[in-house]
Amino acid sequence: MALVWRIMAVRDILRLGDPRLRRRSEPVPESELGGATLTELVNDLIETMRASNGAGIAAPQVGVLQQVCVIEVKKNERYPAFPEIPLCVLINPQLTPLTQSYDVLAPEDAISIYEGCLSVPGLRGRVSRPRRVRVQAWGLDGNRFDEVWEGAKAAVVQHEVDHLHGTLFVDRADTSTFCFLSEYEQFVPQSERVIDGVA
Ligand SMILES: [Zn+2]
Repeated sequence: MALVWRIMAVRDILRLGDPRLRRRSEPVPESELGGATLTELVNDLIETMRASNGAGIAAPQVGVLQQVCVIEVKKNERYPAFPEIPLCVLINPQLTPLTQSYDVLAPEDAISIYEGCLSVPGLRGRVSRPRRVRVQAWGLDGNRFDEVWEGAKAAVVQHEVDHLHGTLFVDRADTSTFCFLSEYEQFVPQSERVIDGVA
């Protein structure tokens, strides 16, 4: 029997309507950190995100209900207004908003972006989120990760962590702003695509 050495693979992305996108993901047990199964999942998430030009992807989007997500922005043609974000792997992430206002965000506490999602292809809609969050997680190597992220980076991580709780950007968007990608490019001016409270 031939041995197949599998390194990385692009996995199929679930689309809006698949009930797995609405379920809560389970935390990864500490004993699995650094293990082959988790490493393969993370490598596949990175490959799948890059193949689709995503700014991030969460494990439930490939049908794995575990609290794992990856984020990376490199001159992304789907998000040309975005700053670059180096590759980041987050396992069991916990987010804490660091803003003065909470339920109703003051403009200076908010970042508002026309978000998209690999599981909702072709659609954009404006979502307002806290612009500053504390991000605590495990890295793939088992090291504890604890940073404060601001602006677009804070919005992206909130979008990905929402996936781990069964929430999609369409739940949080101002529905009157929904548009298809070509209409977004045609009608939404650059100045409205990313509005960062303090920028
Ligand atoms: Zn998404």
